[in-house]
Amino acid sequence: MTGDGTRCVHAGQPAGVPGGPVPPQPVLTSQFHLGGPDFYGRAANPTWQALESAIGDLDGGECVVYASGMAAVSSVLRTVLRTGDTVVLPADGYFLIRSYVRDHLEVTVREVPTAARWTEDMVSGARLVLLETPSNPGLDVCDIAAVSALAHRAGALVAVDNTTATPLGQRPLELGADITLASDTKALSGHSDVLLGHVSTADVSLIDRLRAERTVSGAIPGPFEAWLAHRGLGTLDLRLARQAENAAAVYEVLRAHPRVRWVRWPGSPHDPSYAVASRQMRRFGGVVSFELESAAAAEKFVASARWVSAMTSFGGLHSNADRRAQWGDPVGEGLLRFSCGCEDADDLVADVLAALEQG
Ligand SMILES: *Cc1c(COP(=O)(O)O)cnc(C)c1O
Repeated sequence: MTGDGTRCVHAGQPAGVPGGPVPPQPVLTSQFHLGGPDFYGRAANPTWQALESAIGDLDGGECVVYASGMAAVSSVLRTVLRTGDTVVLPADGYFLIRSYVRDHLEVTVREVPTAARWTEDMVSGARLVLLETPSNPGLDVCDIAAVSALAHRAGALVAVDNTTATPLGQRPLELGADITLASDTKALSGHSDVLLGHVSTADVSLIDRLRAERTVSGAIPGPFEAWLAHRGLGTLDLRLARQAENAAAVYEVLRAHPRVRWVRWPGSPHDPSYAVASRQMRRFGGVVSFELESAAAAEKFVASARWVSAMTSFGGLHSNADRRAQWGDPVGEGLLRFSCGCEDADDLVADVLAALEQG
């Protein structure tokens, strides 16, 4: 199979034409002259289609892009669920998904922790099981193939929020899930300059329903944002490699430090998720989670670090750390989600050690 670097560089790229531009060009228009396939910018745009072809190729399905990760996940929930249905959500996943379902949909929510011992009663009667693995921010992992088999026997669809892994880290459709979706605001775009999301599936009737729902709900990305994401995707392989290298180094420093209560990174053989993660994931990313003794200690750590900024979101070029309890995640006050960027490992390690000494 063609390597990840080659696939990222060439995904969704136009065939070379003598005298033509090398990258696909952003098509910035709301209107099209009638008579061709495109007619109005809310229904379709060639710049989205180039990106959809690129991400769909990496995911192994057909892709629909959205204005943000939340637009992608909410579109799946609106399209698949009917009033009164039961949906299984990760108790420890991205918190706004639980809020959205509770506040805006008339469905029954069953919350299951990602690392649960998944049993039939957890999925029985559900229309949809949403998994998030590795989960954000705790980095727990569940077995996508095993849960998909369990859910399918109960007649439920399975969607995986693949944001943390990216399509290079994990291919949920190959593992048996019906839908993979992600916030491409994170590592896929990777430069902290665009919000974007996507859904991929091999189910063509579901793709048609999702596209139709996107057109009428208007949850569409701007063509310029789609173009930026496509530009970022070209270096995803390189960026993930550096981020994972940095995460491995930072993980070892944190694991050995007496001030760190615990640290998680599914790419380490010391991590409780490693057995499942190394079986189903193709590679690991740059996000590490760890806990210091208090909110004040976590904030002091971030303030003391030179190369690590306090910012929310993750997966970008710049290392950052986010104290998740401030946003309402049900986690310890001193938990930091540390997103390793593309700096040099030696610089990051020295910085992390120095910042821990400030406590
Ligand atoms: C950030 C995130 C989202 C939401 O994505 P936006 O692009 O911010 O709308 C959904 N799921 C996970 C796991 C995320 O990390």
